[in-house]
Amino acid sequence: MRTRFAPSPTGPLHVGSVRTALFSWLAARHAGGEFVLRIEDTDQERYIPGSEALILETLQWLGLEWDEGPEVDGPHGPYIQSLRTEMYREHAEILVQRGAAYWCTCTAERLAAMRDEQRRRSEPTRYDRRCLTRQDEVDAERSAGMPAVLRLRMPDGTTEWDDLVRGAVSFDNADIDDQVLLKSDGFPTYHLAVVVDDHLMRISHVIRSDEWIPSTPKHLALYAAFEWTPPRFVHVPAVLGADGLKLSKRRGARNVLDYGEMGYLPSAIVNAMALLGWSSGSDEELFTQSQLCERFTLERIHPAPAVFDPARLDHLNGQHIRLLPAEALVEALEYHLPGSSKDTRRSLVPMLRDRMVTLADAATLADPLLHEWDWDDAIEFPPRKVDAATARAVIDACIDSVQHGGLGDLDAMRERIKAAAENTGAKPRDAFRALYVAVLGTPAGLPVLESMAFIGAERSLERLRTARQRLNVRKIPAS
Ligand code: GLU
Repeated sequence: MRTRFAPSPTGPLHVGSVRTALFSWLAARHAGGEFVLRIEDTDQERYIPGSEALILETLQWLGLEWDEGPEVDGPHGPYIQSLRTEMYREHAEILVQRGAAYWCTCTAERLAAMRDEQRRRSEPTRYDRRCLTRQDEVDAERSAGMPAVLRLRMPDGTTEWDDLVRGAVSFDNADIDDQVLLKSDGFPTYHLAVVVDDHLMRISHVIRSDEWIPSTPKHLALYAAFEWTPPRFVHVPAVLGADGLKLSKRRGARNVLDYGEMGYLPSAIVNAMALLGWSSGSDEELFTQSQLCERFTLERIHPAPAVFDPARLDHLNGQHIRLLPAEALVEALEYHLPGSSKDTRRSLVPMLRDRMVTLADAATLADPLLHEWDWDDAIEFPPRKVDAATARAVIDACIDSVQHGGLGDLDAMRERIKAAAENTGAKPRDAFRALYVAVLGTPAGLPVLESMAFIGAERSLERLRTARQRLNVRKIPAS
């Protein structure tokens, strides 16, 4: 099996296009085949400088390495279409010779008028083949220097194929336009280039978004004209946002690299993307990259549109964080805890690991441990469900325990504080929230006794005493 991902450099990759790349990569890896990366940059008008680099960076970050393509090269290169224009012209010539394509000198004005007229008559807008019937004149016009495009002569009849996702698909060729194959500047259009390249690069399975289904009859007409065996077509369903609309660059879909900045792991993104239109056949959702390579088959792609659910990505991200070996997490957190030392991160990781949805949560969670924080009136103290007497009792027990036992035996300390809470008739779980606020400034967060061990006895006592004083201040009735 040889698959390919053929992005156009029209901006960064978003979830929808990455999902297509992932399916192509997984299919090749599952089958022990090759995955080819090809940059389709024939449309100069839509070109956005810098996009190729972003595309390569995104695939590399996600671990979707390609066997042939830019940077690694291969036996069927070059893998950038603008470097292959000569090949497209040679192939266009074959089509002309075989009568499968014809030159057209219709001006933009004439084509616009033709379309207006077709619309007025409520007909589909398509080329009326005026030049097909006057090829001698067209030849003379071209010799005289008139600009011309080359068009596919769409054959009569119907086009059918067995799509690996859609099953039998069929089109009446009468509904299909005579597609421009070479533009007047000699550059090929996508349709000519994609067919020539998929054939010359020996692609066995064309895996792409289902928005290309209406173009496939044109491509099959080209395969037939060249007398080439077409590849299998695998049209994968669209990816919709939570609003039910298709994710697209035009609608501002997010650059996948941004997810890295937001604290998502590449393995979680790959896992979440794989579930967009594919299912393993079981209820399992959590998959590592190698498990996906093992389980993924094209036959299990569903034709229905898939909805990208950010909550599912969050859930998977938390699980992938917990799959990471501790030392890998220490590395991964460097970006999100800037300025922290490796040792600091090593002591934080056991506390953070179970509490992070994204790596970026580490910054918020660890903040009260890494920096001093100020009391402000927005902090409710004692917190809800805890009365002042209970708060005083647990803080006093905690201060006493640190002063006399230090922070070496956290279990003993926990028991002591629990007993103090129970003495006041409070539930220990509620009472502990007073301690959280005292030490961390919030009623929830990293485990409070471990946090105290992290900041040390001196800073812990300071925070506990400040909190204790606030309870005293509160006691003084306002006069
Ligand atoms: N260059 C096309 C795109 O970016 C690729 C379509 C295809 O895979 O055939 O959508």
